Amino acid sequence: LADEVLAKRKKFLNPALFLYYKKHVNIVEGKMQYLFDESGRRYLDAFAGIVTVSCGHCHPHVVDAVVRQTKLLQHATTIYLHHAIADYAEALVAKMPGNLKVVYFVNSGSEANDMAMLMARLYTGNYDILALRNAYHGLSAATMGLTAHSTWKHNVPQGFGVHHVLNPNPYRGPFGADGTKYADDVTNVIESSTPGKVAGFFAETIQGVGGAVELAPGYLAPVYDIVRKAGGICISDEVQTGFGRTGTHYWGFETQGVVPDIVTLAKGIGNGVPLAAVVTTPEIASVLARCLHFNTFGGNPVCSAAGHAVLEVLDKEERQKHCAVVGDHLLKRLHALQEKHDIIGDVRGKGLILGIELVSDRTTKTPATVETLQLFESFKDLGVLVGKGGLHGNVFRIKPPMCFTLEDADFLVDVMDHSMSKL
Ligand code: PMP
Repeated sequence: LADEVLAKRKKFLNPALFLYYKKHVNIVEGKMQYLFDESGRRYLDAFAGIVTVSCGHCHPHVVDAVVRQTKLLQHATTIYLHHAIADYAEALVAKMPGNLKVVYFVNSGSEANDMAMLMARLYTGNYDILALRNAYHGLSAATMGLTAHSTWKHNVPQGFGVHHVLNPNPYRGPFGADGTKYADDVTNVIESSTPGKVAGFFAETIQGVGGAVELAPGYLAPVYDIVRKAGGICISDEVQTGFGRTGTHYWGFETQGVVPDIVTLAKGIGNGVPLAAVVTTPEIASVLARCLHFNTFGGNPVCSAAGHAVLEVLDKEERQKHCAVVGDHLLKRLHALQEKHDIIGDVRGKGLILGIELVSDRTTKTPATVETLQLFESFKDLGVLVGKGGLHGNVFRIKPPMCFTLEDADFLVDVMDHSMSKL
């Protein structure tokens, strides 16, 4: 069966769609934190379909909500009234601090960041946008320019008016974990590469695709000040960091003690149902006056029902608290693993959004890209699926469904230990 699927993929799907493993996994079923292949073999999913299955694969409450809504009304568009989008919008903005009280639903993270760029430019009247090196904000025509990672760069015009600033990476950055020191670079870039005015600044508080790089503490507060003084607004990309996954806070930006002007959401917001959102203040939202924008599927009744059910599950099952407990345990065990295996250069992250960076030499921090791939394949053979990322493909990303247990965490670390010992 896997061979048949592979043959069809090769023949009918665009080759851009790469596969993760050399020996492929053909997934036929998902149950909470587990995936099953065609032979019934169970895999522990520590990557959640790229940080998307927040509640768990086919979580019964989300499935019920989707089925109920699918039977009642699948689609209407926003040109008619329907209660699903209105009820969900109310519940979602209730989770936001400050004046972040108006939402526009779209279908993907790229679309959400596209819209945030547009709003920033319309609202401020400025053009230039700042983003961090090593960022990933999408691959639409506009967001491709925000993304700063050679893997995703193309020989096409992109990134008009986008400038990348120094990445406050505690492990590799020139100022280590002192976030305030990196802020000067934002001033330098505004002074050297823009008319002195900017439209906006984008950041993920823990860079996802970039390899679970947690921005150095103390970075965002001074940067938000600098950006606002230069006429810009601040955008937090919470596509991976939101909904309590960090354990300590519901939103990633709260870990840096700031309140952004726009928040973009995708991935985990729908537990696998295509859904994304741009949340902002009534004042900024009003730049898209009547008829200035439209989205056919955004906030579709079925997607709204799914998103609403996700919020209910995360609250009812106290997933934020759970992420903190399991994440702390994982971090402790991973730090112990780092003591044992020299190849582990860095262990980082918060809650259930963790990264393990592999290096062939701890002093030079030379990326151990080949070994990362070997281990990655070995984890899978032992029944564990993790993510990989980072500029040099040498970071394991641990971002499981939020129902991941302490026992799952132990199994994951045991598998890593076993594979690293055999390397
Ligand atoms: N922002 C972040 C932080 C992401 O990780 C991603 C996807 N990896 C995106 C935006 C783009 O999302 P999508 O693939 O849904 O367009």
